[in-house]
Amino acid sequence: MTKFLTTIILSIFLTVPFQSFAQNKVCGSYKGYIQDDIHQYPEFYKSISQKNQNLKQEFERIQNNLDINSLRSTSDNKKIIPVVVHIIHDDGPENVSDEVVQDAIDALNRNINGQSNLFESRTPDVFAALRGVPNVEFRLARTDPEGQLTNGIVRVKSPLSNEPSPRNAVKALSYWNSYQYFNIWVIKKFLPESNGNTLLGFAQFPFSGSMATDGVVLVYSEFNDPSSSTLTHEAGHWLGLCHPWDCGAGTCGDDNIFDTPPSREANYGVSFNNFPYHVGLQNQGCIADSMNWAGEMFMNYMDYTPDQFTTMFSKGQVEVINETLEGDGIVPGFRQYMWSEVNIDETGTSDGFLPPTCTKQLNIFENNDAYQVCIGEETWFRSNSRIFGNNISSVEWDFGDGTITSGSYNGQLGHYELHTYANEGTYDVKFKITYDEVIKVRASDPSLIPATDPSLIQSITTDKIVQGTQDELNNMSASNISSHYIDSLGKYWGLVDTTFYRGKVQETIYEYDYTNTCVAEIVKPAFVTVNPASSQNTSPETYEFFAGLDPDWTVTENNYDNSVWSISDLSQQARWEWYSGNGSMKINNFELSEKGIIGGYSEIISKSFNLSSYTTPAIKFSWSGAALNTFPTNELRVHYSTNCGENWLSLATLDPVTTSRAGYIATNFVPNPNDWLDTVLTKNALKNNNVKFKISYDGGTTTHNNIYIDDIKIGEASSLLNENNTSISQKVSVFPNPLDESSSILLENFGGQETSIDIINILGEKVYNIYAGVIQSDYFEISNLRARIKKDGIYFIRATSSLNKSFTKKIILN
Ligand SMILES: [Zn+2]
Repeated sequence: MTKFLTTIILSIFLTVPFQSFAQNKVCGSYKGYIQDDIHQYPEFYKSISQKNQNLKQEFERIQNNLDINSLRSTSDNKKIIPVVVHIIHDDGPENVSDEVVQDAIDALNRNINGQSNLFESRTPDVFAALRGVPNVEFRLARTDPEGQLTNGIVRVKSPLSNEPSPRNAVKALSYWNSYQYFNIWVIKKFLPESNGNTLLGFAQFPFSGSMATDGVVLVYSEFNDPSSSTLTHEAGHWLGLCHPWDCGAGTCGDDNIFDTPPSREANYGVSFNNFPYHVGLQNQGCIADSMNWAGEMFMNYMDYTPDQFTTMFSKGQVEVINETLEGDGIVPGFRQYMWSEVNIDETGTSDGFLPPTCTKQLNIFENNDAYQVCIGEETWFRSNSRIFGNNISSVEWDFGDGTITSGSYNGQLGHYELHTYANEGTYDVKFKITYDEVIKVRASDPSLIPATDPSLIQSITTDKIVQGTQDELNNMSASNISSHYIDSLGKYWGLVDTTFYRGKVQETIYEYDYTNTCVAEIVKPAFVTVNPASSQNTSPETYEFFAGLDPDWTVTENNYDNSVWSISDLSQQARWEWYSGNGSMKINNFELSEKGIIGGYSEIISKSFNLSSYTTPAIKFSWSGAALNTFPTNELRVHYSTNCGENWLSLATLDPVTTSRAGYIATNFVPNPNDWLDTVLTKNALKNNNVKFKISYDGGTTTHNNIYIDDIKIGEASSLLNENNTSISQKVSVFPNPLDESSSILLENFGGQETSIDIINILGEKVYNIYAGVIQSDYFEISNLRARIKKDGIYFIRATSSLNKSFTKKIILN
């Protein structure tokens, strides 16, 4: 086995993409994938490097303390492997049910132990004789790494479910340490491969040295299909197995396992009827017929044969699996701690473990994300009650305005209700259900079940396929024994006899149902804000944010619990005082980044203002932000609404470079006075009697340093522009260019300046003037540029401000 171990260490970073093309199971693995990925996404891997380091240290400590002589598995020598399934979803079909998860784990257990219902009918005898049975059982964890009760399934809502890039990014969203748990991530789909193939999943080998990404990722459409062998294949990699052709050199590849014949290549679309396949050197065989007339073992789970023709792992492969799980008797196996008694107890996966009861979490939503509405408008409350099954006995909605109802029910939506608020205000919404839950406790020995009434324990007996010599089967009291002649050839693969025997033995497990009546309740404080259709707030406002979030502003959405706008406290950090006041709004990205969070999103929404009497109503705010890498992707977006917050329209987007204006700062960013910038924004549509503003922060695809906002002001554009602004550099852009019907010109940071915008022809002559006057906003856009120029050709746009600065852009009309 030394040879095998060396190979695995050499392919230390080999991870295995697994692809599908034209209904075929296709898997392309290549060495150096992780290095390619690190090169392509250095910031992502940097963001998890500290976590990885900590995990490795803890893993090494555990391995060093592991007394391999005192380890034991269950009484029937079964190795139990605790599993956590992270469902990364975006509320689509990829958010598979708990039942689907259990079915997938059951199918994995059948396949890996040679109990597939296809095994007997679709495995040629000569290969069936080589079937290996590792006697492992994957079980969903019942205790999480913090010791909290769990069902072994974690659900994370994230857009990264769809085409994550890098594909390991989902592992930063949710991960349990991989020396205690086998991590499985389920996603919607992967980015298309450059060769047109579609990835179905990928695994990471043991010994790969990358603890923070250890596990298997696969798409939900494979995971939710019990006849798919994708999870089995990936679990094979995770336990140390190569593709049969993939880990050796030469025309015929090898997996360095003695009883899986060398293979020329991946066997796409091969079926049982193709046996013997690739036989004879002239027919692409890899060994002479005189040595092996059986050809390639295409029915092996590590090949790419279609699901309905994969049936087995070999004895040699099980030796490799055992080496990963048990080591060599001197050095512990890489995944040995996982099935040790102490870990089985810690993860709640031992026989007879009574899982937690009444733990399902109730949740509610507004179906259209309309958490801000005008008086008299309908809101549509929805719940996740479907996860509680069909045994819900009572339901109660409390909308906070005195209305209490059991609401409506729909098989697809679950419990929901439409409600209309009659009065202005902010309302708490409560939802409560009472339901019965049945929990099954299982054990191989009835005495391990903590049942209150042992007579109610039921036994479940299944037939297991066993193989061996006639004596071995007799000793197991096997029934239905049949003999299978395999010729003398079996000797080539290490078999002693020319005939093997197959039979059935019964396996009994014991089960007890615990029925509990549970009450689940959720209260969402200040869930809905109802505003009058016309606002009374007519005077200008300034918000300093020094004594907590101003009540005129509400944090309405955060996709991570910790990634919220919080208030910086001047008494702790005097340096970030701005104009006045003692604090600012802050997102503490620096600390969050160390946890590997990517894609954070947060927003604040104002009360309503009546701006109809202003000449040019505007919003101004100051901000300060820094980058943690050279490719910032975070943005600040400003929106407004004239219908109480139900719909939002864009005022401006501060791009990633602008948002990270203080530059690359590797330490916890706290702005100096000259790190602050401000901007004034207006639009004709703000001249309305019911205007709300929203400032949102989107962290994008990389990690970032902290961002601060302060001194939000609502008022007349001219007076806000006359303040002593610290504006960022001016910019003129035209997009798209060459011009089409949608082309606009955008002037940034010309606010308050008398400006002339002219079109100049190629001879330097001014042919049109398209604007002259004082610009009222730091984001000033003129749309429909195409229609203002009558003849095709090459032109220049020149913007000249009262500060005598001139900007010229070439534009093309064709
Ligand atoms: Zn593979």
